[in-house]
Amino acid sequence: IRWTEGRGWHDAQLQPYAPLQMDPANMTLHYSQTIFEGLKAYRQADGSVALFRPDSNAERFRRSARRMAMPELPVEAFIEACDLLVRQDRAWVPGEGEQSLYLRPFMFATEVGLGVRPADEYLFMVIASPAGAYFPSGVKPVSVWLSQEYVRAAPGGTGEAKTGGNYAASLLAQAEAAEHGCAQVVYLDAVERRWIEEVGGMNLYFVSGSGGDATIVTPKLTGTLLAGITRDSLLSIASDLGYRTEERLISAEEWREGNADGSISEVFACGTAAVITPVGSVKSAHAEWTVGDGEPGEITMRLREALLAVQTGRAADPHGWMHRLG
Ligand code: PMP
Repeated sequence: IRWTEGRGWHDAQLQPYAPLQMDPANMTLHYSQTIFEGLKAYRQADGSVALFRPDSNAERFRRSARRMAMPELPVEAFIEACDLLVRQDRAWVPGEGEQSLYLRPFMFATEVGLGVRPADEYLFMVIASPAGAYFPSGVKPVSVWLSQEYVRAAPGGTGEAKTGGNYAASLLAQAEAAEHGCAQVVYLDAVERRWIEEVGGMNLYFVSGSGGDATIVTPKLTGTLLAGITRDSLLSIASDLGYRTEERLISAEEWREGNADGSISEVFACGTAAVITPVGSVKSAHAEWTVGDGEPGEITMRLREALLAVQTGRAADPHGWMHRLG
């Protein structure tokens, strides 16, 4: 679907995957006016296909567009585009367990020009790509690198938007994590370098206490981290399962001390791609520690199973999250 100043949205079309031709002065290449989303279509227990919370992705896409001075695509048009593509590619939605069809809706400026200003022309597209189980050989805890040097987003910046520049800013930190043998980066806030924000492509959760008495804590949305849809879903699922939930500031110090004295029993990351990933160990320039016994925690796995059961239609959908294909 194209958008042109004065004309609005026009020329929606479904076409085979193919390269795009671009002018060297395309404004996106220079000023990064680009936003994206990630969501999945799951094969349901009865054989049908459904998208998980596409309305929430559509709303977040509108918020990202607003922050990046781009036109807002109506929620219905976003869902219709995803729906149309998945219906076309229905046969590509795998049928087993947590396999899925990953959708990547995105929008970028197509205007040609060298001046810095919001563009007058944009293109919205959706790519579909089959995704196998994120952990083909079972769920494995990840090691994380607590970055002291690099931040992902600052107050007033674009951290809350799903825009390419945030990810570009994270690449060097990701390379630093790999040098230290870690799979993911945990970002701290830009002002005090104290409060836990999120992982490069996932939100974080901390479990304090155990059994039915556990409290599930996640960093509150301060404007510099992404409002993950998996994060939001887990707040509901955890309450449905009878756990207390809290959204609040949590410091790196509290995390380290909580793991040392056992008051934080489990930590996990969550997002569309991996659903829930247990965090097994943490490293920073000053410290290194293991989370619990380094193995996936019981509550982590219980929440993971509960979420996947809704996504694959094996459990009831009390919140109306599944969007069946029309
Ligand atoms: N934080 C960041 C920076 C991300 O890129 C993602 C992936 N979209 C998430 C968190 C998790 O969000 P969601 O649950 O909506 O996939």
